[in-house]
Amino acid sequence: MDEREILAEFYNRREHYNTYLQANDIARHTCPGCGFPSLAARGGFDICDICNWEDDGQDDQASSILAGLQVDGILMAGPNGRLSLKDNRINIGRMLESNMALTDGEVDFDTARVLKTIEYYQQRKHEIDERMTGDELPQDHIWMEWKEVSKDLLAALVVPKSGEL
Ligand SMILES: [Zn+2]
Repeated sequence: MDEREILAEFYNRREHYNTYLQANDIARHTCPGCGFPSLAARGGFDICDICNWEDDGQDDQASSILAGLQVDGILMAGPNGRLSLKDNRINIGRMLESNMALTDGEVDFDTARVLKTIEYYQQRKHEIDERMTGDELPQDHIWMEWKEVSKDLLAALVVPKSGEL
């Protein structure tokens, strides 16, 4: 897929999940970085468990809460640094694409199941959090465990093609 197709897929899946959340009055939000319903709030600087985008309020029609903010004369970069929303969407799209190629699957559009999948892996991350003391080094095993959970979550969002079930 080229960038245009990847972005089209992003908008397509975000719209799909948003429609379900609204129709069922579910207090979750889709992530502006990946389109999955991973956020409990918007603009709360939560880090998405799927794409690692930090929700600083940026979206298609909104810029970062920190945009234009100056501290001691220095313009704030925002938590995502130089990574643009568009590049983040393309990056996650490429990772999904490679997972789909690997398993010959497709992104899960069963929103109820997607919400359960995300909840399950968020719970696993929470359990790892509880075991952390704050003194861990980046090479410690517990961080590898953390990264594995993120990888597993992304893989779990790709399911067998519905036509083949
Ligand atoms: Zn995300």
